[in-house]
Amino acid sequence: MELDHFMKGCIRRNPGQKEFHQAVEEVAASVLPFMKSDKKYKGVNILERMTEPDRILIFRVCWEDDNGNVRTNRGFRVQFNNAIGPYKGGLRFNRSVNLSILKFLGFEQTFKNALTTLPMGGAKGGSNFNPRGKSDREVMRFCQSFMTELYRHIGPNIDIPAGDIGCGAREVSYLFGQYKRLRNEFVGTLTGKGLSFGGSPIRTEATGYGSVYFAREMLATKGESIEGKTCLVSGSGNVAQFTIQKLIDLGAKVVALSDSSGYVHDPKGITHEKLEYIIDLKTNRHGRIKEFADEFGCTYHPGKKLWEVPCDMAFPSATQNEITEEDAQQLLKNGCMLVSEGANMPTSIAGVHLFQDAKILYAPGKASNAGGVAISGLEMTQNSIRMTWSREEVDTKLQEIMKNIHAQCVEYGQKKGHIDYVKGSNIAGFVKVSDAMLAYGIV
Ligand code: NDP
Repeated sequence: MELDHFMKGCIRRNPGQKEFHQAVEEVAASVLPFMKSDKKYKGVNILERMTEPDRILIFRVCWEDDNGNVRTNRGFRVQFNNAIGPYKGGLRFNRSVNLSILKFLGFEQTFKNALTTLPMGGAKGGSNFNPRGKSDREVMRFCQSFMTELYRHIGPNIDIPAGDIGCGAREVSYLFGQYKRLRNEFVGTLTGKGLSFGGSPIRTEATGYGSVYFAREMLATKGESIEGKTCLVSGSGNVAQFTIQKLIDLGAKVVALSDSSGYVHDPKGITHEKLEYIIDLKTNRHGRIKEFADEFGCTYHPGKKLWEVPCDMAFPSATQNEITEEDAQQLLKNGCMLVSEGANMPTSIAGVHLFQDAKILYAPGKASNAGGVAISGLEMTQNSIRMTWSREEVDTKLQEIMKNIHAQCVEYGQKKGHIDYVKGSNIAGFVKVSDAMLAYGIV
């Protein structure tokens, strides 16, 4: 009842923004009942305030392609909430980018960043520019034009962007190069930078590794381990690649992965050698996953989703709403006992409810994929103190952070002897951000 009433208001204020409504509904379903437990939340409209971004910037991005044509894209930055630290969140470059998607991502980011225990607020940005099929020079000209507007709104104590879908090491480097040139200062205003100019060890690997570390924590609550488990990892980009790497290291067998055109099924399992091929294919050559099937003689399923393949554990690591209700049903029917989300909001609300009802180990992205932004936070620290830590030091910190996020989920997510990680992560994030907002008064 209360949730319906709250969502009616949210939908009225944000018409047509389906993904944003979905992200808010998932949080509100956990937080509204919790708010009744403390009178400090009464009469202060705190959840309404948290669902309204601090500000949104929208700007034109013009650039010239290799044939001399003038191209126009739209740039965005949603500075969602800076109650507990400067705005922090990635830039997505993909044809599908619109305000609804960036608002859902910025909202989720606010909770996720709070869970990392580091002082970071939430933001997200990007453009409807699609780097796929563009030359390096075209990508460079686009990034320079994008930054020529964005640079006035960001800074190391204001807002620190990073990469996301379609915005990897190449794009972050072009963006940082232009920022440094316009500002004439070398500061850590972007994260995910190259190792030779202020990047942190393990940042590239952090989201994927963190998602597997989180899965390890969840399994430990049942006395189980990763070794010997059959896994599906969707996507084949940054998050998917390093999820696969850590799963292989810990003795699991990854039998399928995908891209936006289809999936490959390799029953023998992905090895480190095959993974090297995937990293080169996707990161350097920007190719299609079908080429993997041709190279290693396994099956390719165009236009299909990998969730039909039987598995013990699933790691959705591509994009939002990639697990529908039917996909969730299929996974459960095939005996899947753990889902750790590497992507943001990859499971539809109906799918989430099925996982919760089945009481499998299900971690929402804001908890399980927080490793990436956590190491971005540590990149900011290293930039501030002008030092670089070793791989081992950063990896140890990442494992501690994932353990800590898991512990917060356990603290707030107990439900009749079972851990509801959705409830746990939503309430833990809410408590931290709302405490700060309430302390500031009505601002
Ligand atoms: P990449 O661009 O490196 O890879 C994205 C992958 O997902 C590609 O394989 C891409 O296929 C596939 N994909 C994209 N859109 C679709 C679609 N509509 N259907 C099926 N597959 C699709 O991005 P990342 O790996 O960085 O990000 C993946 C997810 O993880 C996103 O949800 C992102 O927000 C989230 N995330 C990323 C973090 C990071 O540190 N990078 C941190 C936290 C969350 P194709 O090659 O065909 O485009």
